[in-house]
Amino acid sequence: MKKIYMDYNATTPLHPDVLDAMLPFLRGNFGNPSSIHWAGRDVKKYIEASREKVANLLNGDPSEIVFTGGGSESDNLAIKGAAFALREKGNHIITTQVEHPAVLNTCEYMEELGYEVTYLPVDHEGMIDLDELRASITNRTILLSVMYGNNETGTIFPIEEIGRIASDRGILFHTDAVQAVGKTSMDVNTLKIDLLSLSGHKLYGPKGVGSLYVKKGTRLTPLIHGGHQEGGRRAGTENTPGIVGLGKACEIANGDMEFQSGYLTKLRERLHEGIMEKLDHVVLNGHPEKRLPNTLNLGFKFVEGEALLIHLDLEGIAVSTGSACSSGSMGPSPVLTAMGIPPEVAQGSIRFTLGRDNTEEDIQHTVDVLPNIVSKLRSISPIYPGKRNELG
Ligand SMILES: *Cc1c(COP(=O)(O)O)cnc(C)c1O
Repeated sequence: MKKIYMDYNATTPLHPDVLDAMLPFLRGNFGNPSSIHWAGRDVKKYIEASREKVANLLNGDPSEIVFTGGGSESDNLAIKGAAFALREKGNHIITTQVEHPAVLNTCEYMEELGYEVTYLPVDHEGMIDLDELRASITNRTILLSVMYGNNETGTIFPIEEIGRIASDRGILFHTDAVQAVGKTSMDVNTLKIDLLSLSGHKLYGPKGVGSLYVKKGTRLTPLIHGGHQEGGRRAGTENTPGIVGLGKACEIANGDMEFQSGYLTKLRERLHEGIMEKLDHVVLNGHPEKRLPNTLNLGFKFVEGEALLIHLDLEGIAVSTGSACSSGSMGPSPVLTAMGIPPEVAQGSIRFTLGRDNTEEDIQHTVDVLPNIVSKLRSISPIYPGKRNELG
């Protein structure tokens, strides 16, 4: 049976060129980049080249890139690092109800430490209201943390407007761009972003490595104390193969983002239309236009999402319900709940996230098998109104 992977927002496979770039650093090129001798100097050169590649993707300066242990660490460093450094200026943080747990749980922890956090609500399409954002700013507000593109629905927030609001008020702006980097082009300067998180394994790079963009002059208290690596902002001997892999992944993304984005949008629309043609009672979760090119979240009414996922898995098709991070936890997705999606629709929601290895045949196969599974599951559902409703 052919295996079809449609869960690229959970993680991506390593790009073959990324693996090739990493291999020398898992073999002979083992030096400690802090060493003064030849073994260290050589490795250091590659780390700095990688820093430049990450910076290029964001239009930042290499000195503004801090390598971390992944997206979650970048989010923690941005929020805790900025909040600790600005403690005497204020204690108020603004974020949204639909952030990734790496941001939400960090903000909840900050509340335990005495910070105040506003969690902005979203509308039915997962969008925040900028007037509400403006109104929630006080003279104690030190940080806005608003994600770029949502991992579950793909909804893209108005980052440029948020950046302008933050900079006008002299508030730091952090964005978790883990899902958006590599899928949509961005410029940290025009968007007025102070802190931006990205992660290697969400853009065909390795797991366990990421980076935080830190705008020049931004005060940040480090979370990991030790040696002077990363300009004193993140101690510890560098993850050389990971960092080199992340740099290569950013370089590849920079080269073919426009093509990939167009290709994935086309596949996604085909998948969406194919499913809608064959099934009733299916709704789109997320913004119809302002959405990541690869993300399609659909609510199948009168179906249990977990059951649908398992039946698709039996057909070799890998999708997800909600985020990978919330799987195993019961109840509807907090993101869909925040959007006001009724629990029975949220429970029947499936996230298809496409990537560079998906083909038109993958889409066709999914469109061929999915409606039959949904119909079968509905036929045994006690609440499915059946033909009666399909007619009117
Ligand atoms: C995956 C993800 C993270 C966490 O990144 P890791 O590298 O897995 O720690 C953070 N934010 C978003 C939006 C994500 O999708």
